[in-house]
Amino acid sequence: MSMLKVDNLNVYYGAIHALKGVSLEVNEGEVVTLIGANGAGKSTLLKTLSGLLKPKEGTIDYLGKSIAGSAAQSIVKAGISHVPEGRRVFANMTVEENIELGAFLRKDSQGIKQDFEKVYATFPRLLERRKQLSGTLSGGEQQMLAMGRAMMAKPRLLLLDEPSMGLAPLMVKTIFQVIKDINKEGTTILLVEQNANMALSIADRAYVIETGRVIISGTAEELQASEEVKLAYLGGH
Ligand code: ATP
Repeated sequence: MSMLKVDNLNVYYGAIHALKGVSLEVNEGEVVTLIGANGAGKSTLLKTLSGLLKPKEGTIDYLGKSIAGSAAQSIVKAGISHVPEGRRVFANMTVEENIELGAFLRKDSQGIKQDFEKVYATFPRLLERRKQLSGTLSGGEQQMLAMGRAMMAKPRLLLLDEPSMGLAPLMVKTIFQVIKDINKEGTTILLVEQNANMALSIADRAYVIETGRVIISGTAEELQASEEVKLAYLGGH
Protein backbone atom coordinates (compact mmCIF):
# COMPACT_ATOMS: atom_id res chain seq x y z
CA MET A 1 0.00 0.00 0.00
CA SER A 2 1.26 3.44 -0.90
CA MET A 3 2.03 5.40 2.26
CA LEU A 4 3.61 8.48 0.69
CA LYS A 5 3.02 9.70 -2.84
CA VAL A 6 4.86 12.74 -4.15
CA ASP A 7 3.95 14.10 -7.55
CA ASN A 8 5.59 16.84 -9.60
CA LEU A 9 7.10 18.60 -6.60
CA ASN A 10 8.69 21.98 -7.30
CA VAL A 11 10.53 23.82 -4.54
CA TYR A 12 12.44 27.09 -4.74
CA TYR A 13 14.84 29.04 -2.53
CA GLY A 14 14.09 32.50 -3.89
CA ALA A 15 15.20 32.29 -7.51
CA ILE A 16 16.94 28.92 -7.08
CA HIS A 17 14.83 26.06 -8.41
CA ALA A 18 15.94 23.26 -6.06
CA LEU A 19 13.37 20.53 -6.87
CA LYS A 20 12.20 20.34 -10.47
CA GLY A 21 9.16 18.13 -10.72
CA VAL A 22 10.12 15.31 -8.35
CA SER A 23 7.75 12.33 -8.18
CA LEU A 24 8.23 9.32 -5.95
CA GLU A 25 6.40 6.82 -3.85
CA VAL A 26 7.05 5.03 -0.56
CA ASN A 27 5.02 1.96 0.35
CA GLU A 28 4.16 0.96 3.88
CA GLY A 29 6.93 -1.20 5.41
CA GLU A 30 9.61 -0.28 2.89
CA VAL A 31 13.09 1.18 3.23
CA VAL A 32 13.50 3.60 0.31
CA THR A 33 16.75 5.44 -0.25
CA LEU A 34 17.54 8.66 -2.11
CA ILE A 35 21.00 8.93 -3.51
CA GLY A 36 22.63 11.84 -5.27
CA ALA A 37 25.62 14.13 -5.27
CA ASN A 38 26.07 17.15 -3.00
CA GLY A 39 23.49 19.80 -3.74
CA ALA A 40 21.19 17.44 -5.70
CA GLY A 41 18.18 18.39 -3.57
CA LYS A 42 17.90 15.43 -1.21
CA SER A 43 17.71 17.45 2.02
CA THR A 44 15.35 19.90 0.35
CA LEU A 45 12.99 17.03 -0.40
CA LEU A 46 13.00 15.77 3.20
CA LYS A 47 12.48 19.30 4.53
CA THR A 48 9.51 19.76 2.22
CA LEU A 49 7.99 16.44 3.32
CA SER A 50 8.27 17.40 6.98
CA GLY A 51 6.75 20.85 6.48
CA LEU A 52 9.90 22.96 6.93
CA LEU A 53 9.70 24.17 3.32
CA LYS A 54 6.60 24.88 1.26
CA PRO A 55 6.37 23.58 -2.30
CA LYS A 56 5.44 26.01 -5.05
CA GLU A 57 3.84 23.29 -7.09
CA GLY A 58 3.03 19.59 -6.77
CA THR A 59 1.28 17.24 -4.38
CA ILE A 60 2.33 15.23 -1.31
CA ASP A 61 -0.16 12.63 -0.15
CA TYR A 62 0.43 10.74 3.08
CA LEU A 63 -1.99 7.92 3.93
CA GLY A 64 -4.34 9.29 1.32
CA LYS A 65 -4.39 12.88 2.63
CA SER A 66 -2.63 15.93 1.27
CA ILE A 67 0.12 17.27 3.54
CA ALA A 68 1.79 19.62 1.05
CA GLY A 69 2.32 22.94 2.82
CA SER A 70 0.92 21.68 6.17
CA ALA A 71 2.49 22.92 9.40
CA ALA A 72 5.44 20.87 10.66
CA GLN A 73 3.70 20.10 14.00
CA SER A 74 0.67 18.59 12.31
CA ILE A 75 2.92 16.44 10.10
CA VAL A 76 4.74 15.13 13.20
CA LYS A 77 1.38 14.37 14.83
CA ALA A 78 0.37 12.44 11.73
CA GLY A 79 3.35 10.12 12.36
CA ILE A 80 6.19 11.49 10.24
CA SER A 81 9.45 12.12 12.06
CA HIS A 82 12.52 13.80 10.51
CA VAL A 83 16.09 13.31 11.70
CA PRO A 84 17.89 16.18 9.96
CA GLU A 85 21.46 16.29 8.79
CA GLY A 86 24.14 17.29 11.27
CA ARG A 87 24.06 18.14 14.90
CA ARG A 88 20.43 18.90 15.61
CA VAL A 89 20.16 18.01 19.28
CA PHE A 90 19.03 20.35 22.03
CA ALA A 91 22.45 21.54 23.16
CA ASN A 92 21.43 22.80 26.60
CA MET A 93 19.66 19.63 27.59
CA THR A 94 21.29 16.43 28.79
CA VAL A 95 21.57 13.29 26.69
CA GLU A 96 18.82 11.67 28.75
CA GLU A 97 16.47 14.65 28.35
CA ASN A 98 17.03 14.64 24.59
CA ILE A 99 16.17 10.94 24.36
CA GLU A 100 13.08 11.46 26.53
CA LEU A 101 11.88 14.20 24.19
CA GLY A 102 11.69 11.67 21.37
CA ALA A 103 8.78 10.00 23.16
CA PHE A 104 6.80 13.17 23.79
CA LEU A 105 3.81 12.03 21.73
CA ARG A 106 3.66 8.55 23.30
CA LYS A 107 1.61 7.46 26.27
CA ASP A 108 2.67 3.82 26.70
CA SER A 109 4.99 4.26 29.69
CA GLN A 110 5.99 0.57 29.75
CA GLY A 111 6.98 0.66 26.09
CA ILE A 112 8.84 3.92 26.59
CA LYS A 113 10.89 2.37 29.39
CA GLN A 114 11.77 -0.64 27.25
CA ASP A 115 12.77 1.54 24.31
CA PHE A 116 14.93 3.69 26.61
CA GLU A 117 16.83 0.55 27.59
CA LYS A 118 17.11 -0.46 23.96
CA VAL A 119 18.61 2.93 23.02
CA TYR A 120 21.23 2.59 25.76
CA ALA A 121 21.97 -1.04 24.83
CA THR A 122 22.48 0.01 21.19
CA PHE A 123 24.59 3.04 22.05
CA PRO A 124 26.45 2.35 25.31
CA ARG A 125 28.25 5.66 24.81
CA LEU A 126 24.97 7.49 25.39
CA LEU A 127 24.44 5.63 28.66
CA GLU A 128 27.91 6.67 29.83
CA ARG A 129 27.16 10.27 28.91
CA ARG A 130 23.52 10.43 29.94
CA LYS A 131 23.96 13.38 32.33
CA GLN A 132 26.21 15.33 29.96
CA LEU A 133 24.93 18.40 28.13
CA SER A 134 24.30 17.37 24.54
CA GLY A 135 26.04 20.38 23.06
CA THR A 136 29.34 19.09 24.43
CA LEU A 137 29.08 15.66 22.74
CA SER A 138 31.29 14.92 19.74
CA GLY A 139 29.70 15.06 16.26
CA GLY A 140 29.40 11.27 16.06
CA GLU A 141 27.90 11.08 19.54
CA GLN A 142 25.33 13.71 18.60
CA GLN A 143 24.45 11.63 15.54
CA MET A 144 23.88 8.59 17.80
CA LEU A 145 21.72 10.75 20.05
CA ALA A 146 19.60 11.89 17.11
CA MET A 147 19.08 8.22 16.14
CA GLY A 148 18.24 7.33 19.74
CA ARG A 149 15.61 10.04 19.80
CA ALA A 150 14.16 8.66 16.57
CA MET A 151 14.02 5.16 18.12
CA MET A 152 11.95 6.62 20.97
CA ALA A 153 9.52 8.39 18.66
CA LYS A 154 8.43 5.19 16.86
CA PRO A 155 6.97 7.13 13.94
CA ARG A 156 5.05 5.48 11.09
CA LEU A 157 7.37 7.14 8.60
CA LEU A 158 10.93 8.09 9.47
CA LEU A 159 12.87 10.54 7.29
CA LEU A 160 16.62 10.11 7.85
CA ASP A 161 19.09 12.61 6.43
CA GLU A 162 22.61 11.19 6.15
CA PRO A 163 22.64 9.25 9.43
CA SER A 164 26.15 7.90 8.78
CA MET A 165 27.81 11.26 8.28
CA GLY A 166 30.91 11.83 10.39
CA LEU A 167 30.84 8.38 11.97
CA ALA A 168 33.66 5.87 12.25
CA PRO A 169 33.17 2.74 10.05
CA LEU A 170 32.15 0.51 12.95
CA MET A 171 29.53 3.01 14.09
CA VAL A 172 28.25 3.31 10.51
CA LYS A 173 27.54 -0.44 10.63
CA THR A 174 25.71 -0.03 13.93
CA ILE A 175 23.61 2.83 12.57
CA PHE A 176 22.58 0.81 9.51
CA GLN A 177 21.70 -2.15 11.75
CA VAL A 178 19.56 0.20 13.88
CA ILE A 179 17.79 1.43 10.75
CA LYS A 180 17.02 -2.18 9.78
CA ASP A 181 15.73 -2.92 13.28
CA ILE A 182 13.52 0.19 13.37
CA ASN A 183 12.09 -0.89 10.01
CA LYS A 184 11.47 -4.48 11.20
CA GLU A 185 9.47 -3.10 14.10
CA GLY A 186 7.06 -1.46 11.70
CA THR A 187 8.47 1.93 10.79
CA THR A 188 8.65 2.82 7.10
CA ILE A 189 11.90 4.59 6.18
CA LEU A 190 12.98 7.18 3.64
CA LEU A 191 16.75 7.39 3.85
CA VAL A 192 19.01 10.03 2.31
CA GLU A 193 22.61 8.82 2.09
CA GLN A 194 25.94 9.70 0.52
CA ASN A 195 27.06 6.19 1.36
CA ALA A 196 25.19 4.63 -1.56
CA ASN A 197 26.69 1.16 -1.11
CA MET A 198 25.46 0.86 2.47
CA ALA A 199 22.11 2.48 1.69
CA LEU A 200 21.40 0.10 -1.20
CA SER A 201 22.40 -2.87 0.94
CA ILE A 202 19.47 -2.25 3.31
CA ALA A 203 16.95 -0.63 0.94
CA ASP A 204 14.07 -2.19 -0.95
CA ARG A 205 13.98 0.55 -3.59
CA ALA A 206 15.94 3.65 -4.49
CA TYR A 207 15.76 6.92 -6.38
CA VAL A 208 18.75 8.79 -7.78
CA ILE A 209 18.40 12.58 -7.73
CA GLU A 210 20.52 14.85 -9.87
CA THR A 211 20.20 18.66 -9.84
CA GLY A 212 16.63 18.59 -8.56
CA ARG A 213 15.31 15.77 -10.76
CA VAL A 214 14.81 12.03 -10.29
CA ILE A 215 16.96 10.50 -13.02
CA ILE A 216 16.88 6.79 -12.09
CA SER A 217 14.61 4.67 -9.94
CA GLY A 218 14.22 0.98 -9.28
CA THR A 219 14.74 -1.81 -6.81
CA ALA A 220 17.95 -1.75 -4.79
CA GLU A 221 19.17 -4.78 -6.76
CA GLU A 222 18.52 -3.04 -10.07
CA LEU A 223 20.49 0.02 -9.00
CA GLN A 224 23.34 -2.07 -7.61
CA ALA A 225 23.59 -3.76 -11.01
CA SER A 226 23.29 -0.58 -13.09
CA GLU A 227 26.52 0.44 -14.83
CA GLU A 228 25.53 4.11 -14.63
CA VAL A 229 24.90 3.94 -10.89
CA LYS A 230 28.05 1.90 -10.28
CA LEU A 231 30.18 4.41 -12.11
CA ALA A 232 28.72 7.57 -10.62
CA TYR A 233 27.72 6.53 -7.09
CA LEU A 234 29.26 3.21 -6.10
CA GLY A 235 32.92 4.02 -6.66
CA GLY A 236 33.01 2.33 -10.07
CA HIS A 237 33.10 -1.25 -8.70
P1 ATP B 1 24.11 17.42 0.33
O1 ATP B 1 24.31 15.99 0.04
O2 ATP B 1 25.31 18.24 -0.02
O3 ATP B 1 23.55 17.71 1.67
P2 ATP B 1 21.49 17.78 -0.92
O4 ATP B 1 21.20 16.86 -2.05
O5 ATP B 1 20.86 17.47 0.37
O6 ATP B 1 23.07 17.95 -0.78
P3 ATP B 1 20.15 20.33 -0.75
O7 ATP B 1 20.67 20.71 0.58
O8 ATP B 1 18.75 19.86 -0.83
O9 ATP B 1 21.10 19.23 -1.42
O10 ATP B 1 20.35 21.56 -1.74
C1 ATP B 1 19.80 21.61 -3.07
C2 ATP B 1 20.18 22.93 -3.72
O11 ATP B 1 19.51 24.01 -3.08
C3 ATP B 1 21.66 23.26 -3.64
O12 ATP B 1 22.05 23.86 -4.86
C4 ATP B 1 21.77 24.27 -2.50
O13 ATP B 1 22.82 25.18 -2.69
C5 ATP B 1 20.42 24.96 -2.59
N1 ATP B 1 19.99 25.42 -1.25
C6 ATP B 1 19.79 24.66 -0.16
N2 ATP B 1 19.38 25.41 0.89
C7 ATP B 1 19.30 26.67 0.44
C8 ATP B 1 18.95 27.92 1.03
N3 ATP B 1 18.54 27.99 2.30
N4 ATP B 1 19.01 29.02 0.26
C9 ATP B 1 19.40 28.95 -1.04
N5 ATP B 1 19.74 27.81 -1.65
C10 ATP B 1 19.70 26.69 -0.94
